[in-house]
Amino acid sequence: MEEITAQLATATVAARAAVAVGQVPTLSDGDLMSAMSAVEILGRTVDALRVAVAVEVQERSRPTLGSDRLSARQGCRAGIELIARVTQVSEATANRRCRVGAGIRARDTLTGEVLPAAFPKVAEAMDAGELGVDSASAIITALSAVASRAEPEMLAEAEHALVGCALGVEVSSGEPITPFTADQTRIQAIQWQVALDPDGVKVCEEQATLGRGMVKLGTRGGLTRYRLDALPELEGKLERIFASCLSPKTAGRFLTVEDEAEALVGGDTRTPAQQRHDIVAAMLDAAARSGELPTIGGASPTVLISVAAEELEAGTGAGWIDGVQNPVSIDTVKRFICTGGIQKVLFDCNGKIIALSSPDRIFTPQQRRAITVRDGGCVIPGCQIPAGWCEIHHVIEHSRSGPTHTDNGVLLCWFHHHTIDTSGWQVHMVDGVPYIRPPRWIDPDRQWRRASTPHTLTHTRPPRPDRMPSRT
Ligand SMILES: [Zn+2]
Repeated sequence: MEEITAQLATATVAARAAVAVGQVPTLSDGDLMSAMSAVEILGRTVDALRVAVAVEVQERSRPTLGSDRLSARQGCRAGIELIARVTQVSEATANRRCRVGAGIRARDTLTGEVLPAAFPKVAEAMDAGELGVDSASAIITALSAVASRAEPEMLAEAEHALVGCALGVEVSSGEPITPFTADQTRIQAIQWQVALDPDGVKVCEEQATLGRGMVKLGTRGGLTRYRLDALPELEGKLERIFASCLSPKTAGRFLTVEDEAEALVGGDTRTPAQQRHDIVAAMLDAAARSGELPTIGGASPTVLISVAAEELEAGTGAGWIDGVQNPVSIDTVKRFICTGGIQKVLFDCNGKIIALSSPDRIFTPQQRRAITVRDGGCVIPGCQIPAGWCEIHHVIEHSRSGPTHTDNGVLLCWFHHHTIDTSGWQVHMVDGVPYIRPPRWIDPDRQWRRASTPHTLTHTRPPRPDRMPSRT
């Protein structure tokens, strides 16, 4: 035993002597690449040994051995705890090593017979230092899940093929291919799962259907956290919508020249996560406006915000959304009023309603349609949000005598409406036509430019040379 420890210690010294961490930044590109491959080969050998010793400890600590189990003799409750204590890795890592190890360790039976490993090809490739623990884990996890329902020969074929892909061999023809990364191996392994257990997809979907849901987890720091467990079809719909509305810069696709120009002009500084939030906000507004949702007390679902008149007047304080614990700022209240209108309710000192105004400042559906035809979508250049999801912004605030008229309303998406007072973008109307001025960091001259023209109008007018790149 002392000899094994001594030899491993020598190997550690040799690895340190080969290249010091401090030396890495000085390597040439070529040397860096070679060093990375060589270190990985060493790492795979070390990982294979880590897995082998971990699963052996776990096996000798199995509960059926009672107080004679290794973990108990070393003062730990279970094998995982013992592994974590000795190696100082997390219990999650210890678990993973044991899971992989269980797939590549020869199995003892109750009769004392020894069976080969459940995944002999994985075992062989790991032992040879060719297969990393990530890829091994992907193969073992995916195939173990269907092992009890799959034909043994097909299972062996799947294992062989997957190990081949990970090592860079097409096993049926023996031809070399580009070795798969662990992520690619995982995707390939999922496809094998379907082939090995075709009924499993249905069973899995049935289970997933029961598990689907959306729950409110709690509120902290002004944000409410939800968890959405979405079925694949909902995921597909969401991904399509997000892909079509994310700004080209953050959508994770290749940019055309037009996209690049739009991304530059739009100057969108939001993260993809923030954009997805804003897209959901716009989608919900559109759904509420569609007139197809169930009504509540005869009215379509409307968000009610209450605010004291004095606080609204003073611009300080807070508004309260019906059914929501967190307050919203007066700026948010004003934006709601801008797009959704206001109804004044006057109370006496006992809280009795003594006067009620009729709701005003809301653009009618006819006005909305007309503005939609004129603006085509959010008027901020580069914004991808379609017209149906936009809010109508009073260019001159109602409180400053701005009328609720098509000549004073423009389409802005949820985000651009939210930030119109702070983002530096400005809108004004000339003869009922919206003009936009970018913030100084986008256009140092801050020129007023006519908002982009939607497709519907370009057929009847020649394009203007000075116009911003079109959104469409
Ligand atoms: Zn917008």
